[in-house]
Amino acid sequence: MEKEFYDAAKETMSVEDRERYQNERLRDIVEYAYHHAPAAKEKMDRAGVTPGQIKTIKDLEKLPITRKDEFTEQQKANPPFGGFLAVPTLKAIFVSPGPIYEPEDPEEQFEVIAKALYATGFRAGDRAIITFSFHLVPAGIRMAEALTRLGVTWVPTGVGNTELQLEIMRDLQITCYLGTPSFLGLIIKKAEELGYDFRRDFQLKHAWFIAEMLSPSLRQSFEQDYGISTAQGYGTAELGTLAYECLQKSGMHIPEEVIVEIVDPETGRQLGPGEVGEVVATPFNKIYPLIRFGTGDLSSLTTEPCPCGRTSYKLTGVLGRVGEEVKARGMFIHPRQVQEVMARFDQISRFQVVVRLHEHRDEITINLELKDETINKEQLANSLIKNFQDICRVRPDKVEFLAKGTIPEGGKVILDERVWK
Ligand SMILES: [Zn+2]
Repeated sequence: MEKEFYDAAKETMSVEDRERYQNERLRDIVEYAYHHAPAAKEKMDRAGVTPGQIKTIKDLEKLPITRKDEFTEQQKANPPFGGFLAVPTLKAIFVSPGPIYEPEDPEEQFEVIAKALYATGFRAGDRAIITFSFHLVPAGIRMAEALTRLGVTWVPTGVGNTELQLEIMRDLQITCYLGTPSFLGLIIKKAEELGYDFRRDFQLKHAWFIAEMLSPSLRQSFEQDYGISTAQGYGTAELGTLAYECLQKSGMHIPEEVIVEIVDPETGRQLGPGEVGEVVATPFNKIYPLIRFGTGDLSSLTTEPCPCGRTSYKLTGVLGRVGEEVKARGMFIHPRQVQEVMARFDQISRFQVVVRLHEHRDEITINLELKDETINKEQLANSLIKNFQDICRVRPDKVEFLAKGTIPEGGKVILDERVWK
């Protein structure tokens, strides 16, 4: 019988076991980084923290977050790896724009991707095209290593050449796609231009996307119009895979091999489930131990059990970049959360959330314009406040109904009118 999980022992461990496992590995990587990577030692010394003081995930709050710009500066000041490298020799070095140099991935990183691909239906005997680049950056080779572990045959087609990609897909009866959603869209469009019937003439069943957000409409089209099961992963070149979707396609599981925190980008304090903050990662990578690295991406955690049986917490998706959010009453609200709330009400034609300072307290007002003025406004306001609170975790003070044309078209979703004195 086919196994349900790639690594059941890890993927289904209890919340308590996972916490114990991750805390143990955290203590190990912090101790290791301190003694092998000079930049990690310097970061901890500067914060006045010894490795022995980092015993649990919560203790990570004692350390500052290293951000991309700082990391790049450290690499420039101390080339090529900025003092983060912890091994004497390397099999491979990758180069990202900048240039930023990245050492080879640890073997465990390929296991993480294999686990993610298995969760979305990739199986031994499948054939995959890898449309990521195979030069300079790690993406293509990373995927190839993961597919090898699954027994999936891979074809390194790389970027571009949609016609050639189609020929290969047809001739080799390719069943799986790895790449960006937009490029798969281009391949399908080309197929149709060439007179193919995509469902009939090709065998593509699974697609795994990283490096680009998958819009709900594009996902629906891939799944319903072309019969392709889609799933997305999330990660960065230097931190590796930080989360991946299962077949539930609602939120992305955090693999066991990395600690992902959601933090207040201003204070570095860890936030609770449902609260929006910056994604900060500490992978257990002994080649290149990066402790508490900020991605600049905003997301939130859900601790709700997933029907797939995996017990890890999930990221709710990437909401946007740090800087786009507005903090009101201690909670970060992102424009995309507001849009999600409003999408539930088709009676609304325009909306804007306004945050003002009223007697030293943040006051949140939702301004609305309606398609039809005759509806029950009180009912709508109550339902809207409830939905807003569910998604944004903060209760709006009031809902105001404005005359058509009052809210500027294309105006800000969240208008921050607070004046700081
Ligand atoms: Zn799941």
